[in-house]
Amino acid sequence: MVNRSDFLLALENDIKPAFGTALETLEHLLSRGIINWGKPVAEIIADGNLYIQEAKAAEGFGLVSLLLEGPPNSGKTALAAQIAKNSDFPFVKVCTPDDMVGHTENAKCLSIRKVFDDAYRSQLSCILVDNIERLLDYGPIGPRYSNLTLQALLVLLKKQPPRGKKLLVLCTTSCRQVLDDMGLLSAFSAILHVPNCSSTDHLLTVLEETEVFSKKELSNLHAKLQGKRVFIGIKKLLGLIDMARQVEPSYRIPKFLSKLEEEGGLE
Ligand code: ATP
Ligand code: MG
Repeated sequence: MVNRSDFLLALENDIKPAFGTALETLEHLLSRGIINWGKPVAEIIADGNLYIQEAKAAEGFGLVSLLLEGPPNSGKTALAAQIAKNSDFPFVKVCTPDDMVGHTENAKCLSIRKVFDDAYRSQLSCILVDNIERLLDYGPIGPRYSNLTLQALLVLLKKQPPRGKKLLVLCTTSCRQVLDDMGLLSAFSAILHVPNCSSTDHLLTVLEETEVFSKKELSNLHAKLQGKRVFIGIKKLLGLIDMARQVEPSYRIPKFLSKLEEEGGLE
């Protein structure tokens, strides 16, 4: 029999994540949208869609776990959020180390555990674990990490959901090698590489989309970029574009190019 306490439990655990907080969190991670700057972006989204289908499939294991790995600022979190959104799964939960600052190892394991337990209760669930190396307290100096959290994650990433339940887990990291050393890579069903923008075409596509420069300025830039090498993460690039927006129009292009060089994004 369903009574009031069941209803309240459902309100707390099942309904809110779908229609309130979780979706808002995804939208927040996606606030600047996804610019299709090149083939890698389209491929990650397309692969994401395939894995969503696999996770949903009646005949499958009921569990698909994806790792989105790539350099800092390459857009890993936003792409993971877009895949989560594309899944349209009613239960979505974002698990970020930012929410767990100052938690003990035990408290961290418990809250990760709770996220998975809540997910198992829903038919179709999606969990996004952002910056997984930070969740594991990994620091490049030392190297130390939380073995307790690592063991908990290893178990949860491999554990099949209860019969009939489907779970899609999306994790992000900029420390692929560290995860490999921890033996965590093999726990994932698949690894998707998120690259930096790496050609003048990529760069010009982003510039066109963001509409900071006029057509004339863009062709001017195009000429100036001939023979140059581009290598920059989308998040960094959008930051530089925001800065250029603030600069007086006549000075925009030289300022943007010098900042891009300073950041090591242009050679
Ligand atoms: P960090 O290494 O700090 O975790 P990140 O790789 O997770 O960074 P995001 O936080 O996802 O990077 O930032 C990417 C930003 O760029 C977001 O604001 C996103 O909306 C925007 N963006 C635009 N186009 C794309 C794209 N094609 N792929 C990813 N992000 C994009
Ligand atoms: Mg991120």
